[in-house]
Amino acid sequence: MTNYNELKNLAIQAGFDDAGYLDVAKLEFLQEVRDMCAADKCHNYNRSWSCPPAAPGLDEMREKVKRYSGGLLVQTVGHMEDSLDFEEMMASAKRHGENFDRLRDTLGGDYPDMLPMGAGGCARCQPCAYPDAPCRFPDKMTYSMEACGLFVSRVCTDNGMKYNHGKDTICYTACFLLD
Ligand code: SF4
Repeated sequence: MTNYNELKNLAIQAGFDDAGYLDVAKLEFLQEVRDMCAADKCHNYNRSWSCPPAAPGLDEMREKVKRYSGGLLVQTVGHMEDSLDFEEMMASAKRHGENFDRLRDTLGGDYPDMLPMGAGGCARCQPCAYPDAPCRFPDKMTYSMEACGLFVSRVCTDNGMKYNHGKDTICYTACFLLD
């Protein structure tokens, strides 16, 4: 039986600031969240295999997650000087990506069939091969939680984790569906 306390410790060792158990039954894949990607605030819409419209649709995601019951929810929290501290926003986003890659490598041995979902589109190649050629690393590419239709703040609160860590903080969230 999976020891989630041990896995939470692994997440903290990988650099995350918080980690908790994710109850997969509580995940809701919402069309209105996926539709927000079309506003292209992150400049990834229609530019990556990992993002809409190329990313799997909600029905496909619902099918994919049927085999899982539990996982890990992980967060990287940045502390900004003020709400316009873009330097810290970028630095904590980078730290989150590095933490995510480290934990994925750590978990990969015991959970080769895990389903990771990150914050933002896959950034493994610059630029992405989309749309002219197939994904270069289909086994390593990751979808963002939002692209899959997950309302991230709700996923956190539904699983007993804070999403808002206080004034002038920024929180990046990812998850790993494990078993
Ligand atoms: S692995 Fe490379 S080609 Fe595939 S989705 Fe990510 S950035 Fe694009």
